[in-house]
Amino acid sequence: MNIILLGPPGAGKGTQARILMETRGLVQLSTGDMLRAAVAAGTEVGRQAEAVMKAGGLVSDAIVVGVVGERLDQPDVAQGVIFDGFPRTTPQAEALDRLLAAKGMALDAVIDMQVDDAAMVHRVAGRYTCANCGEGYHDTDKKPSVDGVCDKCGATEFKRRKDDNAETVAARLREYHAETAPLIAYYSAAGKLKAVDGMAEIGAVTAAIAAALDAVS
Ligand code: ADP
Ligand code: ADP
Ligand code: ZN
Repeated sequence: MNIILLGPPGAGKGTQARILMETRGLVQLSTGDMLRAAVAAGTEVGRQAEAVMKAGGLVSDAIVVGVVGERLDQPDVAQGVIFDGFPRTTPQAEALDRLLAAKGMALDAVIDMQVDDAAMVHRVAGRYTCANCGEGYHDTDKKPSVDGVCDKCGATEFKRRKDDNAETVAARLREYHAETAPLIAYYSAAGKLKAVDGMAEIGAVTAAIAAALDAVS
């Protein structure tokens, strides 16, 4: 099964993608993670993406579609893919349709994670992750059960994204409303859209996504 998690910054896409990897054996394909890795590695893609990401803008469709196209050549995508943070523009959605068709892959569902703007700012501002395993946490909403120790792997180092600051979040929200929100209508017209209340607690969101996916499989 191949699915898209659609939603604004902080909607819970990464959180739910990790759960779906564990429960359904799907592969998470996060363009944000891939672009951050390219920046850290100092590749040509990373060099072109760095300043845009820092400012909370969108990296060009050509770069992002190129990265996704290469990723879809890896054999593990046959297990099924969770697209997290991609597509974010109509040209990206159209490119994804072409890529999936060329690779003989189907798109089973698009989960629209609905979260209001105030919650996004709160979520993103309080977000941090385990430096070892990548498990996501939040200053007030999802603390590790033992302070300073990752629940998943026991590591004690955590990190915050450079772009999770107030100014950048405002830019990212503007980009979401201008460029990404139109995809809700795009996938609704394609009969793929499943809306989920992203304001609910993490377990309830997981259950709502599971119900939506069970209805299509
Ligand atoms: P995205 O990948 O959509 O940007 P994340 O999954 O990283 O979002 O979640 C953003 C922040 O909100 C993280 O700190 C995460 O722990 C927290 N979070 C995720 N889902 C929920 C939820 N349903 N309720 C409260 N906090 C959540
Ligand atoms: P979030 O969902 O929390 O906003 P991501 O990790 O998905 O964050 O993305 C971080 C940044 O990477 C974005 O603000 C943007 O600059 C860039 N990016 C990620 N995915 C895309 C994409 N599909 N198209 C354009 N830019 C992207
Ligand atoms: Zn960890």
